[in-house]
Amino acid sequence: MGFDRRKFTLGASALGLGAMTGARFAQAAPTMKASASAGQPDVLILGAGISGLHSAHLLEEMGMKVTILEARERVGGRILTLMDQPGYPEMGFNSMAAGYGRGIDAAQRAGVELQEVGARYRIGPPSQVYIGNTAMTREEWARFPGNPFPEQYKSVMPGELVGMLVAQNGRLEDWTRWSDPANAALDVSLHEFLKGQGLSDAAIHLANDLAPYYGINAYGTSSLMMEFNDGFIKTMMAAGMESLAVKGGNQKLPIALAEQIKGDILLGREVLGIVQEDAGTTVFCADGSRFTAPKVICSLPLSALRNVKIDPALNGVQAEAVAQLGYQPISMAFITAESPFWEEDGLAPGMWTDGLLGNVMPQRYGEDPNEITGFIVQARGNLALYWDRMDPEAVKQMIVRRIEELRPAAKGKVKAHTYFSWAKERFNGGDVSYLAPGQSTWVNDMAQPAGNMHFCGEHLATSARGLEGAMESAERAVLEVLGV
Ligand SMILES: Cc1cc2nc3c(=O)[nH]c(=O)nc-3n(C[C@H](O)[C@H](O)[C@H](O)COP(=O)(O)OP(=O)(O)OC[C@H]3O[C@@H](n4cnc5c(N)ncnc54)[C@H](O)[C@@H]3O)c2cc1C
Repeated sequence: MGFDRRKFTLGASALGLGAMTGARFAQAAPTMKASASAGQPDVLILGAGISGLHSAHLLEEMGMKVTILEARERVGGRILTLMDQPGYPEMGFNSMAAGYGRGIDAAQRAGVELQEVGARYRIGPPSQVYIGNTAMTREEWARFPGNPFPEQYKSVMPGELVGMLVAQNGRLEDWTRWSDPANAALDVSLHEFLKGQGLSDAAIHLANDLAPYYGINAYGTSSLMMEFNDGFIKTMMAAGMESLAVKGGNQKLPIALAEQIKGDILLGREVLGIVQEDAGTTVFCADGSRFTAPKVICSLPLSALRNVKIDPALNGVQAEAVAQLGYQPISMAFITAESPFWEEDGLAPGMWTDGLLGNVMPQRYGEDPNEITGFIVQARGNLALYWDRMDPEAVKQMIVRRIEELRPAAKGKVKAHTYFSWAKERFNGGDVSYLAPGQSTWVNDMAQPAGNMHFCGEHLATSARGLEGAMESAERAVLEVLGV
């Protein structure tokens, strides 16, 4: 097979793809489930999230036959849109930066329309901070006697401070070497890093632990992973400030990509066991079906892989990571307002709260960017776990009640629709993966092939994050399978 490694890793569209078989995927899911095509695939792909779909596409471009086994009755994994709600609110993947070469390429190939949404986030007054029942603008927060931040950071809002300090005080000369064992000594906890920047425990609690970007609290989060994230964000910003999302819902992207795969995508096939023998690798599913192929690419989050029996067992850091890698708890509710109560009370529509309500984020995803189509109310870390312990209806009621308490103008106007918890999702066990202090070198060992089994997924990315990282990891796994 003619193979140009550089072209391959830059993106797939340049290589072209033949006729599409879209209708078959969109209309015939039950038929697809019932009929694995005759003959063994060259590669079995476990999971139909973006990394599994990208792996399948690249392998087919190289003339290989693939079968994808997906536990859910849908494709997309952590790309999930509420297609029946106003503005198509995203429960998962939100947007890609202008520098997402792979993501943008995939969207073009899939024929979905990307729209700029970055500017929409900046419309209207910035969110206010609520400490207890008191709403504050940035200026009021800077003067607030209970503000625990050091003098020079008093006017930084709680949700901004950690990102700002990591961005200003990175220790790596080259962020792309964040997982290099030579830098392992720098991998202290985010807590220790923030202490070193002069933050008190009270300041760290407020700025990080109430709504951590990664993890549960700053003690359990790797500072080098934060630098990796920061380096990636800066690189993306250098490419442009745009944020792109799929018009009509991001979920359209994996659906369109799946339509282009020629091999079978078998939904509702939860993988329970993987057995490697000389004759091939056999994958056993919960419905009793089994599939054998010379090679397997496994894109399962490690939080899901820990429920799969693998024989021979993984060992060393790989086994440790499967058992222990952290996945961020995030829970969300989608709410709408009957009328714009924020115009009535004159306060910003967005709310960052230090209490049970979490973070209330306006969505402007309609035709008119000025129109607020709804709000995502989000809890991260411990607050998400706390919400998850309640009945979902009770969480929705609590959210409405708390908004009405804080904003009397909202009384009777707010309705909570959907509650969604990533931690409770059986096939994810959390939002994105995160590393604990000292685990920065894990990623290199975690990604190693085990026999004829190769691994991809966002948790294995080393130079990109999020959706782009998931696609990067797929390219590495496919190159391994191809032996190049
Ligand atoms: C709330 C949220 C917001 C996000 N925002 C952004 C953003 O703005 N920008 C960005 O770049 N990224 C964002 N991301 C991250 C991005 O969505 C992920 O990095 C990416 O979608 C992960 O793809 P993946 O293929 O690695 O994993 P997944 O999408 O999780 O795919 C894995 C697949 O494996 C399947 N599976 C699991 N167990 C089994 C089993 N036993 N048998 C068979 N199949 C199984 C799952 O059902 C799933 O379909 C966000 C994620 C979340 C949750």
